[in-house]
Amino acid sequence: MSLCRGCGASIEWIRTTAGRSMPVDPEPVFIVEEDGGRERFITDEGEVVAGRRALPEEEGPACAVGFVPHWKTCPAADRFRRR
Ligand SMILES: [Zn+2]
Repeated sequence: MSLCRGCGASIEWIRTTAGRSMPVDPEPVFIVEEDGGRERFITDEGEVVAGRRALPEEEGPACAVGFVPHWKTCPAADRFRRR
């Protein structure tokens, strides 16, 4: 666990299967995987998943679990966009 240099929030780093380290929010979320989904999530194994967050009534064992990239929620995200 470390702190975001932009906003001071707690973040975790996950190494993706592509070998990049991604900052993510530490709380896992339920994901509905969708081909062509516009949002990206990272599983704890470092896989990048396209899809969307599950609605509350969809949450459960059928969902994937993953992490939201921190730059989606960071109020200072433009500091570390597209390096
Ligand atoms: Zn931040």
